[in-house]
Amino acid sequence: MTAESSIEDAEGTAAAHLAALVESSNDAIVGMTLNGVITSWNQAAQRVFGYDAAEALGQSVTLLIPADLSGEEEKILARVRRGERVMHYETVRLRKDGSRAQVSLTVSPIRNRSGRVIGASKIAHDVTEQKRTGEMLTQLRLAIEAAPNGMVMIDDDGLIVMVNSQMERLFGYDRSEMLGQRVELLIPTRYRDAHPGQRLRYADMPEVRAMGHGRDLFARRKDGSEFLVDVGLNPATTPDGVYVLAAVIDITERKRMEAELAKVHADMRAHAQTLEALVAERTAHLHQTIAELEGVSYSLTHDLRGPLRTIQGFCQIVLADAGDRLGPEEKELLAKSVAAANRLDRLIQDVLTYTRVSRQNFTLQSVDVGKLVRQIIEERPELQAPAAVIVVEGNVERVRGHEASLTQVITNLLENAVKFKAPGRESRIRVHGEGDAEWVNLWFEDNGIGIPTEAQGQLFTLFHRVHHDRAFPGTGLGLAIVRKAVERMGGSVRVESEPGVGSRFCVRLQRGDAS
Ligand code: ADP
Repeated sequence: MTAESSIEDAEGTAAAHLAALVESSNDAIVGMTLNGVITSWNQAAQRVFGYDAAEALGQSVTLLIPADLSGEEEKILARVRRGERVMHYETVRLRKDGSRAQVSLTVSPIRNRSGRVIGASKIAHDVTEQKRTGEMLTQLRLAIEAAPNGMVMIDDDGLIVMVNSQMERLFGYDRSEMLGQRVELLIPTRYRDAHPGQRLRYADMPEVRAMGHGRDLFARRKDGSEFLVDVGLNPATTPDGVYVLAAVIDITERKRMEAELAKVHADMRAHAQTLEALVAERTAHLHQTIAELEGVSYSLTHDLRGPLRTIQGFCQIVLADAGDRLGPEEKELLAKSVAAANRLDRLIQDVLTYTRVSRQNFTLQSVDVGKLVRQIIEERPELQAPAAVIVVEGNVERVRGHEASLTQVITNLLENAVKFKAPGRESRIRVHGEGDAEWVNLWFEDNGIGIPTEAQGQLFTLFHRVHHDRAFPGTGLGLAIVRKAVERMGGSVRVESEPGVGSRFCVRLQRGDAS
């Protein structure tokens, strides 16, 4: 083997290595003539620019240059012709799909054996991603800077690596006084010892969360004063370790308002309690007064009956014993006195009933209303034919009530139904029931004179009478007694009526258990 051929061999091996290196490079490596004609094109060039070797070789390198940068390549090649290298020249190149790639170019002259520049090798490093990341970081920094909260970033040694201007405002330090310092600088001295341990535990299990687990957190200003803060922790795990971006909010004002609000609430509760106590006291007093008044009126009315009976009795004796000695005028006066005494007695009886219904204590029981109505009719001739025909239908239900009060209610309603009979029409009265699982409506229907609509609203009030006293004598207390009794049994009463046609009274009570 001659010396020359061994040199050629060595050169051949080196060239093969170089070709392999070029092929496997991550950067696009493009060879070209001094006129810009592409003469070599590696795999990475295909990846960066999108053209394969067959498409690129023999083409002008202007294929890759955006129109707005058309003069650039000529300037680079001019420098290469002079034997210069162009290092890390950041520019933009066009991909096959028309998109722009950010590249960093290093262009070197290619020389022949005699040292003459015969071409250029161009290494293009795609920095698009890097640029994008850089831009994003810049944006992020701007956002953090503009954030309304204090923002501080800490590395995994607990050193402050970034702060925004709000942090300067909150803590009174200059940025330069915080950067590079331990984050413990920002917390009161009494918490400083425990903090590094808490920080390490957090770094073991980083998560986005509020710091302090609901405890009050205090921060410390440069001047040593303290203030309450909320701190949100955002971990960022990087190859260099866990960085934590903490958002710090001064909550002094919020806490003050919360405390003020709590105080207002407490004051209001106390005030409400005082008012409730006052109302309870006054109500009790009122109940007592009412009870006393009721007691007085009860005994007064009760005591009135005695003398009244005496008057009734004596008048009747005089009429019976000395009737033939009296003239017609005297007889009429005495008869009128008896009638007036009877009316007064009736009124006293009704007032006593009303008071009894209002005051008596009772417990509710299941009452068979159908049976009760039939019994009431049987005991009172005035509720039987020929005065009236009362039909009690089979569906009258059991209700929860007090039997004596219910008897009063039914008697009053039936007596009215018979009393307010339409002239010239046979009185027909119907009692029936309907309802649901909880409530029963008991209906008392008549075909009597009816009640004008405008009078119906007042019907159940004390002493309210609609029809003329002479034709229909009464006290105006019957329906007031009905309402009081029904309401005390937990129910309600209402009326529907059409003048000249008839009236329907509905008593609504809770359904009674079947027995
Ligand atoms: P009283 O029957 O003693 O007059 P109530 O309180 O029982 O008093 O009734 C009040 C008024 O309601 C009666 O005066 C009457 O005008 C009217 N009223 C009550 N029931 C009926 C009825 N079934 N039909 C027509 N009017 C009635």
